[in-house]
Amino acid sequence: MKCQEILEKLSEYIDKEVDPSLCDEIERHIEDCEPCVAFINTLRRTVELFGGVKHVTPEIPPDVSDKLNAFLKEKIIRNP
Ligand SMILES: [Zn+2]
Repeated sequence: MKCQEILEKLSEYIDKEVDPSLCDEIERHIEDCEPCVAFINTLRRTVELFGGVKHVTPEIPPDVSDKLNAFLKEKIIRNP
């Protein structure tokens, strides 16, 4: 899976709403993808702050999303 695909599924993953097979794929990906791990940690903190991923979805606030995307791009460019 590509990082972009992971990111699209992350909120469902954090809420444990993904299929077990997809969950496995995500976990396999993040085992060796530092940017995705960082993104998940950030998203988890956001979820904790808001009391649940449902409150931050369907869209992560645009400013948060922008910052995370910029962060990720930088990480991916630096660690291809
Ligand atoms: Zn990734």
